[in-house]
Amino acid sequence: MAEIYYEDDADLSVIQSKKVAVIGYGSQGHAHALNLRDSGVDVVVGLREGSSSRAKAEEQGLTVKSVADAVKEADVIMILLPDQVQGAVYQAEIEPNLKSDAALFFAHGFNIRFGYIKPGAGHDVCMVAPKGPGHVVRRTFVAGQGVPDVIAVEQDASGNAWELTKAYAKGIGGTRAGVIKTTFTEETETDLFGEQDVLCGGVSKLIEYGFETLVEAGYQPEIAYFEVCHELKLIVDLINEGGLSKMRWSISDTAEYGDYVSGPRVITPDVKTHMKEVLSDIQDGSFAKRFMDDQAAGAPEFKKLRAEHESHQIEKVGGELRKMFTWNTNKDTDYVEGHA
Ligand code: NAD
Ligand code: MG
Ligand code: MG
Ligand code: MG
Ligand code: MG
Ligand code: MG
Repeated sequence: MAEIYYEDDADLSVIQSKKVAVIGYGSQGHAHALNLRDSGVDVVVGLREGSSSRAKAEEQGLTVKSVADAVKEADVIMILLPDQVQGAVYQAEIEPNLKSDAALFFAHGFNIRFGYIKPGAGHDVCMVAPKGPGHVVRRTFVAGQGVPDVIAVEQDASGNAWELTKAYAKGIGGTRAGVIKTTFTEETETDLFGEQDVLCGGVSKLIEYGFETLVEAGYQPEIAYFEVCHELKLIVDLINEGGLSKMRWSISDTAEYGDYVSGPRVITPDVKTHMKEVLSDIQDGSFAKRFMDDQAAGAPEFKKLRAEHESHQIEKVGGELRKMFTWNTNKDTDYVEGHA
């Protein structure tokens, strides 16, 4: 069984006595910096020159410095940059400015697991990875609650890395919900597997195939969109609340029977074979290498794939139909539909 820690298992004063540099002010960065600040932790935000986030962080009352200056004075450095840029920023601006006993924190194990960042032996290497997007991490904290985190220690140089990690998790609100002990390897490999095989890759392809099948059979694209895409949220909300059983309880018996007899015809056992192949590419580092090599070359494959998928018919139809939902104004993200 997993080890889970709550409020009483973590001592906030451990992180309150440290100077924390949060590097990056995106989805996770703003949530960590603001939650730590509100927990009485001394926080500085490190941003690159000319960052458009500087004004936002300063408006919210945070001190902003260059990455190098923020790192120089910090006991704890939480790296919340996109995974593909962490290695370069670490080598150029973080590593040369690290205090000899500074602790390095991550919210995803990618760079440590695949060796793109190799911290010296004197540094604690820790993870606090919220199981939710940054905006939810901030919103739940303000509401007095928290998003669960997974936490890990890859290198315990100080002998106190676990106490520090639990204290950090408490500072961002994680222990209010509960934090689960894992390892960098387990977090990284399962996170990549989940997003590739099920949550993002699997679901997206399932939606596209479902839409194409209906449209090719002569049904209206608008109707197809509602049936295979729009209603997914209602189903996922039920699964999220009470598992597959609550979803099946809520749907009609017709839908439930169809689930049992047709689901396995669509998602056949060879899908699981393919999942194992994808997992193996994650475990042996070949996915990481393919992603990072493409990024290093200016991301030609990534950009081509993004453009291809954005031009799928379901995206055009869906964009029009979603305008009908005028009450559906999600102010949580900066994402503007139709903007690449
Ligand atoms: P993000 O893309 O939202 O934000 C990244 C920040 O880095 C931005 O402030 C951006 O301006 C800055 N940045 C980009 N390039 C830079 C550079 N070259 N130098 C300096 N700053 C630069 O990132 P995110 O989604 O918050 O992800 C940060 C980390 O958190 C990643 O390791 C990610 O895997 C992890 N994580 C993200 C989520 C999530 O929901 N987004 C959840 C859990 C863990
Ligand atoms: Mg994105
Ligand atoms: Mg994940
Ligand atoms: Mg991920
Ligand atoms: Mg229906
Ligand atoms: Mg039912």
